[in-house]
Amino acid sequence: MSIQFTNTMTRRKEEFIPLEPGKVKMYVCGPTVYNYIHIGNSRPAITFDTLRRYLKYRGYEVTFVQNITDVDDKLIRVANEEGVTVKEVADRYTDAFNQDLHNMNILPPDIQPRVMQTIPEIIEFIEGLIEKGFAYESEGDVYFRTGRFGDYGKLSHQPLDDLQAGARVEINEKKEHPLDFALWKAAKDKEVSWSSPWGDGRPGWHIECSAMALKFLGEQIDIHAGGTDLVFPHHENEIAQSECYTGKVFARYWLHNGMLNINNEKMSKSLGNFVLARDLIQQFGGQLIRFFMLQGHYRNPINFSDELLEQAANSLERMKTAYHNLGHRLETAREVEPNGQAEQQAQIISDLRNRFIKEMDDDLNTANAITVLFEVVKEANQYMTSQNVGVQEIRAYKELLLELTDVLGLILEQEEELLDSDIDALIVERTEARASRNFARADEIRDLLAAKGIVLEDTPQGVRWRRK
Ligand SMILES: [Zn+2]
Repeated sequence: MSIQFTNTMTRRKEEFIPLEPGKVKMYVCGPTVYNYIHIGNSRPAITFDTLRRYLKYRGYEVTFVQNITDVDDKLIRVANEEGVTVKEVADRYTDAFNQDLHNMNILPPDIQPRVMQTIPEIIEFIEGLIEKGFAYESEGDVYFRTGRFGDYGKLSHQPLDDLQAGARVEINEKKEHPLDFALWKAAKDKEVSWSSPWGDGRPGWHIECSAMALKFLGEQIDIHAGGTDLVFPHHENEIAQSECYTGKVFARYWLHNGMLNINNEKMSKSLGNFVLARDLIQQFGGQLIRFFMLQGHYRNPINFSDELLEQAANSLERMKTAYHNLGHRLETAREVEPNGQAEQQAQIISDLRNRFIKEMDDDLNTANAITVLFEVVKEANQYMTSQNVGVQEIRAYKELLLELTDVLGLILEQEEELLDSDIDALIVERTEARASRNFARADEIRDLLAAKGIVLEDTPQGVRWRRK
């Protein structure tokens, strides 16, 4: 069996064949770091982390790049409002983003490039496009000449004429055509800027991904992914820039996840249903959010509500309970002589694993893969109640659960991370212990917090803490 993905480019399910056997070059668009991420942003993060884990499980060597957009209008606005630099805003929310990812057991990207560190490559890219006639300078801005790329609209399946008809007529005297988009923006007053052949300015949004993919993965990549909201114009524009620059097909497989609704409504600030990932993580734990997201097929929309989350919590608990029971039975089970039952169990376990793989091979169907996981739970529970329970079989079930949940990034064994309130309470206890010269207890608390990734800092204002 081979792995199949639904490719947005062809709108078909296709067999996955990487450019180089055994290796996968993967690019996933990252956040604009002007705020904490909302729960909708965590969906692509969880989905494509699962894809990355699965490809590794299937033996591929995966290079995973995810950019950080650390320069844009929104960042500049926040920096101005707060009277700090754009970099300070970007650093704060990049750290917060990485912390949120960690809390949902999302592996850090192999490379996490930032715009501010990629300016020379972006300028070189734009210069190349101008040289080839695909871009033009206009009063310090540079625009991509959309009409020069015959394939424009191929990802979103919208011919250029349709796009033109639907385009908001924007009054921009600087552009040759309304669909042309900015590669470089001339600096306005006191804005963060870099010098370029076109004067001081900063890159447009789309060009960063093309330049970063080229820099870190080369001219062609295997998988490019993100939310469906990025198909047009962002990914369409990335394709236009990259393919005009290199003359080659940019990405072979385009994967897009569906949107997340809250109580069947689109999430938006105006509806007042805007939920930050970190608030939910704080309340319910990152594991539950991850499990919840994977219960649906990534391409479909997903609805989020407290009730659905509660149902997911019960399911996840059932899986954890089975795992713990297996561990408990392992202590009491004994080695038995190989018998017919052992063979039968080995067959069941092997079949379950194969079915899990088959579902995941089929366009990363985590929804069905989780159904198979619950069959593992069912079979394991049933086996534990049978007579002559063998230690090997119990171990095999336990290992199978561990193996398959690990592919999904679910953790069965880890203790939940400490909540902020627990940390505060421990810090108070530590302060009291020190005041009463109980240094052993104070050190014990420090070590316990350190083991949970909590770093303490003694300051004149008292003890401060942060998560590593
Ligand atoms: Zn991008």
